[in-house]
Amino acid sequence: MIQITMPLGFLGTVYREIRQALVDMGEMFDLLHQPAEIEDKPGAPALKVTGGEVCFDAVKFAYHPDRPILKGISLTVAAGQRVALVGPSGSGKSTIGRLLFRFYDVTGGAIRIDGQDLRDVTQQSLHDAIGVVPQDTVLFNDTIRYNIAYGRAGATEAEIVAAARAAKIHDFVMSLPEGYETAVGERGLKLSGGEKQRVGIARTLLKNPPILLLDEATSALDTQTERDIQDSLNAMGEGRTVITIAHRLSTIADADRIVVLEKGKIVEEGTHEALLAHGGRYAAMWARQSSEDGETEASAA
Ligand code: ATP
Repeated sequence: MIQITMPLGFLGTVYREIRQALVDMGEMFDLLHQPAEIEDKPGAPALKVTGGEVCFDAVKFAYHPDRPILKGISLTVAAGQRVALVGPSGSGKSTIGRLLFRFYDVTGGAIRIDGQDLRDVTQQSLHDAIGVVPQDTVLFNDTIRYNIAYGRAGATEAEIVAAARAAKIHDFVMSLPEGYETAVGERGLKLSGGEKQRVGIARTLLKNPPILLLDEATSALDTQTERDIQDSLNAMGEGRTVITIAHRLSTIADADRIVVLEKGKIVEEGTHEALLAHGGRYAAMWARQSSEDGETEASAA
């Protein structure tokens, strides 16, 4: 049950915006804790994405003034690069995602996309530029067509089907008696975790954003489905800037760069191989997760 505690007037004026945010953010951004209202600067221009470089410049952030969460994050993700954020629970990974989407403003430093400070551009244009695939895609109580088409207003039938095909959900949809008109969500057909993820991927493909923010799926999916979904996510990332909030290290080993966070600071960064060779925090996390995976497989056998 999602509750939004906001003044009703605000809800009325930016209803669409919130609905979009619900879709984009899903579980990822903890909707019970909606931030204070963020407003566009008067006359703010739209973000102009030229390549999709994302720069976190000495970013500091606190939800409450007396408890700093990010303590000076500097990280540049080049256009088209794939960067994964890893680190213990509570280290600030999701917070970085929320700040990139400007759910909150930084309390120090700046975040820029292609050189433009997020605070200087319209939120609509920012949200248009970033596709979010959360762990748990939120579906509307509506048809599959509507749930995919929500990615982009005015999408044609051919575009919707192409997105569904690319997300490998088209054949499944066509196997349903009512096809794309099948009602899904709480009051309709209950899709499996993997099917929901695919609807989310199709929706994002239709939106065609230059920047992707992936909140990686965890153990909710079985191993084969997870691998398939991972393949689709990798394919979707081609030619885009991708920031992945990773929980399982095995799926991000081929990222261009892995950034290890701890208590709101970057403590290590590099490729999987370099970090393993370094023998630090990441190598320890990798060893721990590999042995846990081994135990799970052994106990499942
Ligand atoms: P996980 O892997 O468990 O998802 P994370 O690295 O993504 O963790 P964040 O969700 O970014 O961590 O949280 C970082 C810190 O900020 C945590 O200590 C958390 O308690 C705190 N925090 C997160 N959201 C809020 C909020 N809305 N209000 C206050 N504190 C928050």
